[in-house]
Amino acid sequence: MTKSRVKKEEDKKKNNLKSLPVLSTLKEGLHLIGNPPLSVICIMRKVHFPAIKLTSEPNTHKYFTQRYGLFSKYDEGIQLDDESWYSVTHEIIAQHIAYICRNCSIVMDGFAGVGGNVIQFAKYCKVLAVDIDKSKLEMLENNANIYGVLSNIKCIVDDFLNIPSHNCRVDVVFASPPWGGPGYLNSRVFDISEMAPKLQEILRACEKIAENTILYLPKNLDPLDIYRIIMETHLKYKKIEFQVISKASAVS
Ligand code: ADP
Repeated sequence: MTKSRVKKEEDKKKNNLKSLPVLSTLKEGLHLIGNPPLSVICIMRKVHFPAIKLTSEPNTHKYFTQRYGLFSKYDEGIQLDDESWYSVTHEIIAQHIAYICRNCSIVMDGFAGVGGNVIQFAKYCKVLAVDIDKSKLEMLENNANIYGVLSNIKCIVDDFLNIPSHNCRVDVVFASPPWGGPGYLNSRVFDISEMAPKLQEILRACEKIAENTILYLPKNLDPLDIYRIIMETHLKYKKIEFQVISKASAVS
């Protein structure tokens, strides 16, 4: 390739980058959004991690004090395992994310866990709940039943990366993937390359399934990392929107 051609290619890349409305400065608070096609919405939650060793006895750890924040119907028989105590989405945040999808017919949650998000989606639409761990989905079914939304949910035990694009139309894929363990808290900026599965693979899978993706990621990630991944992986997304939310700012 000639030098001028290389330069042209580089300029083209730069212009493409500029056309993406990436917010490089994040402010605490809620940015309400529209519902454009081919979008990625990154909801970045405040970082929570277990400060003490968890046991299967919830009474002994601090998360138990947050039980009604995780599930307002906790006392009606909600089931969580150790991992879920600290990874499940707080109900008010899950309500906010579900409200974004209120006009959807079908949403897929690729990392459904015990159902914090799935239950809230299911108040508005049908939900395909995917998780690699069968026991999580059993707890999800129990929890969804307590909220009276089980009939809107179909559980799929599988690796999200293996999920074929369905014949039915999925409006939005929601992904709250594993962040790679509490080690990420030692760094000021979340190291996205530590994620397993890789965010590239997750986004590729999301893109096959639906035009819109919502990611739920730690607040200390660098938005430009998302933007680079989308450019480098040649994904079709045309708009990236970031919302930084906390329990205080999540309103529905
Ligand atoms: P976090 O780091 O947000 O706490 P978790 O480690 O709790 O994330 O993972 C969230 C959920 O994703 C868990 O229920 C786990 O079983 C599920 N999960 C992990 N990997 C996959 C995968 N490849 N496909 C589907 N579900 C997965």
